Amino acid sequence: MTLPDTPGVDLDLATAAAGPKGTRSLRARGSPLAVPAAQRRLLETLPLPVGDFGAALGQCGWSELKPVPVEIFQINVGRLCNMTCRHCHVDAGPDRVVENMDRETVDLCLAALDRTAAHTVDITGGAPELNPHFRYLVDESLARGKHVLDRCNLTILLLPRYADLPEWLDERGVEVVCSLPHYRRLNTDAQRGDGTFERSIEALRRLNAAGYGRGDPRRRLTLVSNPAGAFLPGSQASLERDWKAGLARHHGVTFDRLFTLANMPINRFLDWLVESGNLQEYMERLVGTFNPSAVPGLMCRNTISVGWDGTLHDCDFNQMLELPVEAPRGRRPHVREFDPVWLEARRIRTARHCFGCTAGAGSSCGGATT
Ligand code: SF4
Ligand code: SF4
Repeated sequence: MTLPDTPGVDLDLATAAAGPKGTRSLRARGSPLAVPAAQRRLLETLPLPVGDFGAALGQCGWSELKPVPVEIFQINVGRLCNMTCRHCHVDAGPDRVVENMDRETVDLCLAALDRTAAHTVDITGGAPELNPHFRYLVDESLARGKHVLDRCNLTILLLPRYADLPEWLDERGVEVVCSLPHYRRLNTDAQRGDGTFERSIEALRRLNAAGYGRGDPRRRLTLVSNPAGAFLPGSQASLERDWKAGLARHHGVTFDRLFTLANMPINRFLDWLVESGNLQEYMERLVGTFNPSAVPGLMCRNTISVGWDGTLHDCDFNQMLELPVEAPRGRRPHVREFDPVWLEARRIRTARHCFGCTAGAGSSCGGATT
């Protein structure tokens, strides 16, 4: 199947991984929660004892959340994905063909990147490799001396058009950050769809064969795990030990490090929380395990997140809730108007979903924060 609105993208749905039974994007289902404002409203109206994130910050001495200079330039190139995972915070899927960054916006991102001292370009999606400008963006970022992360869902590496990616990424020293909910089949397939685990293991074998995940810092392979239910992740260090042992023993694959992330109560995970009757309890858990020591390491402090249409956000989660950065009067929160000075002076926008980043050991795109 060729996606008509996305030149150069040829997504073979016959070989794409199926989502969990019955899972389609909220958009495809016509769900009321497909509208970000409806998600924000739902969270804001829940009866919670300490429901205001700003107040929780204030109680531990943060009168407002301010950024530090940008270190990580995160670019979400689109919502298109070959999978439809149940917990997806992006509401990505094969139907999200329109929201895909065009070349002009990619070039605006590169021009903005040149105005920062960011050391890392973090490329995410959807499945970012499906964007027709993905390889151009990688090469241009590397040409600027940046460390590049590809947030990869693993199964994309098995689609014929993308089968050369392990070697292509390896030649360039791109870090591959791969989502894999669990090292056991049952948990992974429950969250991502039948057959995902087998495909993911095969993709990991291909990455290992290309030199990834064997301790070479130039070929770093990071796995990312989200809990498969309405609970917080366990200890990142001990899970990493279990995963390394489990994947090596049962499947002969290796990786370098594991990030554990809490599921954010937005998009499809929010929908699942509502459907399963877990929303209230989960939000109470996030609020009840608020950890002040996670605040300094919040990723919104050292990251800027650019959406597929060039809109600037404090983080990928705010992006999904359509909460752009606060811009000075007369300025648009768009990468075309990127200005490190006003960005560093801004106040980070927070709301109740932010409790997902400060619960327990803290959570960010770089794993636990404490
Ligand atoms: S969680 Fe990742 S792999 Fe799954 S649908 Fe969302 S973007 Fe795609
Ligand atoms: S959701 Fe975003 S803005 Fe809120 S605390 Fe987390 S990283 Fe910061």
